[in-house]
Amino acid sequence: MSTIDLNHTPVLVVGAGIMGAGIAQVAAQAGHKVMLYDARDGAATQAHEKLAGSLQALVAKGKLSADAVARTLSNIEAVASLEEAAGAGLVVEAIVEKLDAKRGLFRDLEAIVSTGCVLATNTSSISVTAIANGLKHPDRLVGMHFFNPVPLMKLVEVVSGLQTDAAVAQAIFALSERWGKVAVHARSTPGFIVNRIARPYYAETLALLQEQAAKPATLDACLRAIGFRMGPCELMDLIGHDTNFSVTQSVYEANFFDKRYRPSLIQREMVDGGLLGRKSGQGFYRYPGDAPQTATSPLIALALPPVTDWCLHGSGVFADLLYQALTTTISVNADKAQSTSPALRRAPQSEWIGLEVDGAQLRLTDGRCASQLGDNVCVFDLPLQSSGSHAGAAQGALAWTASSRASEAWMQQSALWLQVLGFQPQRVADTPGLVVARTIAMLVNEGSDAVHQGVCNEQAADAAMKLGVNYPAGPFEWLSIWGAAPVCTLLDALDAHYRGERYRVSPYLRQRLWKD
Ligand code: NAD
Repeated sequence: MSTIDLNHTPVLVVGAGIMGAGIAQVAAQAGHKVMLYDARDGAATQAHEKLAGSLQALVAKGKLSADAVARTLSNIEAVASLEEAAGAGLVVEAIVEKLDAKRGLFRDLEAIVSTGCVLATNTSSISVTAIANGLKHPDRLVGMHFFNPVPLMKLVEVVSGLQTDAAVAQAIFALSERWGKVAVHARSTPGFIVNRIARPYYAETLALLQEQAAKPATLDACLRAIGFRMGPCELMDLIGHDTNFSVTQSVYEANFFDKRYRPSLIQREMVDGGLLGRKSGQGFYRYPGDAPQTATSPLIALALPPVTDWCLHGSGVFADLLYQALTTTISVNADKAQSTSPALRRAPQSEWIGLEVDGAQLRLTDGRCASQLGDNVCVFDLPLQSSGSHAGAAQGALAWTASSRASEAWMQQSALWLQVLGFQPQRVADTPGLVVARTIAMLVNEGSDAVHQGVCNEQAADAAMKLGVNYPAGPFEWLSIWGAAPVCTLLDALDAHYRGERYRVSPYLRQRLWKD
């Protein structure tokens, strides 16, 4: 494999829209001469002027030096025809997301640029293999998938099609890193890494809404509590339901209608009705003014309820977290009612994790409904720490539910115990896997399938989700905290409950059972 050096090469950026202008800026800041072309008359010049305005504003705020801005701007030249860019060593295409337009452009470019010129596409959903089809040198075409806004978002997915030369992919990887980005290799498959692994973040929430398990604000609060910057509903409102729905639909279709990726009726109804989110003034929430409710209330200092016998069941990181939270509360309230209570017992060999109080159970979800587990049983969601890196001090909204045969007294006490543990309990319907557990399990499962199918490796999946969509952790980081066995158990329980293809466990994840 020969090495291709793109370090000082002139770059042609085709398409001067949101992405093209950002890519031109980043390349020019890295010292490249950049030619910017757009099919619409005047668009490239307008993009250059707009960029000048926004960079000058950063100079005024003291964030950039006037010299650096002058250098960047002088590196960018708006060109009126592709022929003017014949000397480019790299083309980055950021035109309209249509296969025919992209294919046509690259075929035209092959007649203009030298045979050594690398051709990169910023497509977010079209197969790189398909774009290369018909080119004289399909091996020099590669995906260079930036994220919006390009100057701020660190991730670049370097996407190889069937015919992409490994040296070309490596050259784009090295160049992206030189431009200050974190590059990850991906194989050209529907959604690449980020848009594929992210599907369950929306899909699980839409499924919960469809079965009326909880309100959007509750679901958002539960996922924000574990470190997502936005809950799925507010995020879909921001992205726009039309855009979000069409990405889901294209991943679904491209996977030959695999039910795992099936779009949601709820979202289609919203698109059909013009409830597109922020841009139309209404989605799950109304805009402006009606900010999403956090559905949480301030924590109050709580004393432990009186008990005659209590035991903490199970072992591992989540059992330890509960134990720690309980013993902290015990020591803080040492002079109050619980001083008459017996000592908290531990039963690490138990098959379930949670608290047993005088025969009633408050259990961490294992994917089964509370009603399936017994009479006086309540179930709570996965208490991941908000940093996402490990389980830790309890905080924020946490979903819980109750068996249909649980006593009113135990339901009230369960909510109280969750508050004692430091959570803001959010009652949801008796649905399997509740909110966080099923969402994270499905993200882990999707990441596992991506690795299983050679789309990327584990490190790339983690980096892509953290840097491409600001997840608090990557799927394999969550897997290392939670463990393959409980994730498989939870998914199997969901599969048994819903009986469809959606929750089938990735073979890669199942195989991890024998490794961990
Ligand atoms: P945009 O609509 O803002 O800009 C596209 C530009 O391309 C327009 O200025 C248009 O005039 C120009 N154009 C269209 N056809 C052309 C042609 N044949 N030759 C030259 N110029 C042409 O779009 P965008 O959001 O910048 O997206 C561009 C590409 O980047 C798409 O492939 C999109 O899927 C991808 N992408 C977008 C985002 C995003 O968040 N917007 C993120 C990642 C990737």
